Amino acid sequence: MHLRKNDLVEVVAGDDLGKRGRVLYIFPKDNRAIVEGANFIYRHLRRSREYPEGGRVQKEAPLDISNLKLVCPGCDKATKVGVKVVEREGRGMRLRICKKCGAEIEGRR
Ligand SMILES: [Zn+2]
Repeated sequence: MHLRKNDLVEVVAGDDLGKRGRVLYIFPKDNRAIVEGANFIYRHLRRSREYPEGGRVQKEAPLDISNLKLVCPGCDKATKVGVKVVEREGRGMRLRICKKCGAEIEGRR
């Protein structure tokens, strides 16, 4: 899994080609992720106390991770992610790096 929550990604296939957004949620088993602002689906609502008029709500649907690329904070391009192992505080740490410019990509978990 090369993507993490809160990563900025670009959609590289499908209807939302070129759209960028933050990863809101990852489903590791399905290799899918929800990206803010991408792949909207509409849900129709019955009339209820909450929605007296009924109506439609927009909601992001999961996208296949193979259709997403990480946007590098260094060069601002959708990129493939490499992994570099560095020594930090006496421990080997795996860092993600941009394959285009070599910038380290931090990711919060
Ligand atoms: Zn880069």
